[in-house]
Amino acid sequence: MIYDNENIFAKILRSEIPCEKIFEDEYIFSFKDINPKTKIHILIIPKKPYIDILDFLENADADYQSNFWISINKLVLQLDLKNKGFQIKSNKGKEGGQEVFHFHLHLLSDS
Ligand code: 5GP
Repeated sequence: MIYDNENIFAKILRSEIPCEKIFEDEYIFSFKDINPKTKIHILIIPKKPYIDILDFLENADADYQSNFWISINKLVLQLDLKNKGFQIKSNKGKEGGQEVFHFHLHLLSDS
């Protein structure tokens, strides 16, 4: 599978489609899911083009992977979720429920 530059999240990253932005830095972009499953349902995407979690784990360099997680920690602190409960989930592949083929994490919380 080749990364499709016309996927919805690529368009959101290029500001071609609007979104409710929550957090952005050099490594990640984060915005509200259009169809929230919980009180807080935020999508976190790398700014670089990876298809899914395995593409990211296999092909992003170690620096980028660690900065990605450091940025997620900043997002969690900004949302004041450090001492509350939350889930992070990633669907991989059509069989795994993935609909948009730009790697993303779902950050979910009912707090
Ligand atoms: P997946 O099933 O690929 O793991 O998750 C894709 C998520 O993207 C779904 O939860 C869906 O509601 C969300 N989504 C799809 N299209 C849009 C959109 O145009 N804007 C936003 N903010 N979320 C979207």
